Amino acid sequence: MTDYTAFRQEVRDFLRANLTSELIRAGQLTTSVFSDFDAGLAWQKILHAHGWAAPDWPKEYGGTGWDINERYIFQEECKLANAPAPVMMGIQMLGPMLMHYGNDEQKAHYLPRMLSGEDVWAQGYSEPGAGSDLASLKTTATRDGDYYIVDGTKIWTSMAHHANRIFCLVKTNKEVKPQAGISFLLIDLDTPGITIDEIVSLDGHVEQCQVFFEGVKVPASQLVGEENDGWSVAKYLLEFERGGHNFTIDLKKQLAKLRQQAGSVKSHHGRPKLQDPVFRHRLAEAEIEAMALEQTELRIKGSVSAGGNAGALSSLVKCVGTELGQRFNELSIDAVGQAAIPFHPKSLDPRYGGPTPAPDYALTSMAEYINNRAATIYGGTAEIQRTIIAKQILKL
Ligand SMILES: Cc1cc2nc3c(=O)[nH]c(=O)nc-3n(C[C@H](O)[C@H](O)[C@H](O)COP(=O)(O)OP(=O)(O)OC[C@H]3O[C@@H](n4cnc5c(N)ncnc54)[C@H](O)[C@@H]3O)c2cc1C
Repeated sequence: MTDYTAFRQEVRDFLRANLTSELIRAGQLTTSVFSDFDAGLAWQKILHAHGWAAPDWPKEYGGTGWDINERYIFQEECKLANAPAPVMMGIQMLGPMLMHYGNDEQKAHYLPRMLSGEDVWAQGYSEPGAGSDLASLKTTATRDGDYYIVDGTKIWTSMAHHANRIFCLVKTNKEVKPQAGISFLLIDLDTPGITIDEIVSLDGHVEQCQVFFEGVKVPASQLVGEENDGWSVAKYLLEFERGGHNFTIDLKKQLAKLRQQAGSVKSHHGRPKLQDPVFRHRLAEAEIEAMALEQTELRIKGSVSAGGNAGALSSLVKCVGTELGQRFNELSIDAVGQAAIPFHPKSLDPRYGGPTPAPDYALTSMAEYINNRAATIYGGTAEIQRTIIAKQILKL
């Protein structure tokens, strides 16, 4: 029987010993699911050196082999300590999928490189005409001897400007129904014929890109699973994108920050915003909903520990968790008031040491608000999740 109190202490001791002030600053200035890239990578290397780079992986592939409670404790403590978030498309999504669908060479080559941070992966699923309706994707891969020739484009590709590899869904047969003609390819982003355009977001930062493929030669050995069976591979990978995230950990962190902000700012009556009855009421309502969500997450955790899986409940948690996160963002803007207005993306660079246009407690509010608008879009939109809930939970 694991001693979880001792484990929590071990994690805290590790964080105290290894999180430098620069890394903590990067964590504090994180306004999305991604932290400053350099800080995230540096942190991943520290975790790797300690054998903790992949909390969710089994030991045989270099993971920690932790149970679900240990993973929860680790995630919670990292969040509370302001650890930066490494780019996770490799370790969180591609790795577990390769353990199931990859061949021995693919596993032996790619899994260790994910752990060490040598490979940084981007996810090439969405296209300009294919998001919710992913199977309508148009990027083609035509077999030519030992290669596939890839042509087309992927969009909203997070972190592609930092990545050296991309996993892509490509069309290998146009004559059959869409889902039956898709394959899954691993592509080196340095291959000739690939160009990456950065997309600047409303908050002035670049997180997403559009990736173009023009006659790109990809060795056929980079196919995962069978040709034209990529849809099964893609869906399996999505289980790791959508599952396993604990929204309440993020929400509790947001709530603590919000209380600090609302305690720091005086309203026009001269009292801290936190004593404003209308604000307190809205805050209490959101907090109660977060507590209810926590119960649902704990229920899922219990069922997963007993060998079950989250199923359609993960759609419910995604919907409620992301929408509550957005409500906390609105409350944060409300709490800090005018201090949220100045547009100064540089202040959010952990290397920047110059003057800032707002006090520290208000620096991230607007960028977080803007960035988090996307939370109800990526990983499956809120409307798509509601359809799943209606069909699979409510049986409508
Ligand atoms: C910040 C961000 C990061 C992303 N990162 C990545 C990434 O790394 N890799 C990647 O491959 N993709 C990524 N995406 C893309 C993301 O997966 C898609 O944006 C998402 O699947 C929605 O697709 P879409 O943008 O084409 O919108 P659409 O599918 O065109 O949807 C437009 C609107 O119509 C609604 N709608 C569509 N179909 C239905 C339906 N059947 N029923 C009801 N309503 C419907 C949607 O809910 C939405 O409101 C990212 C997106 C964002 C915003």
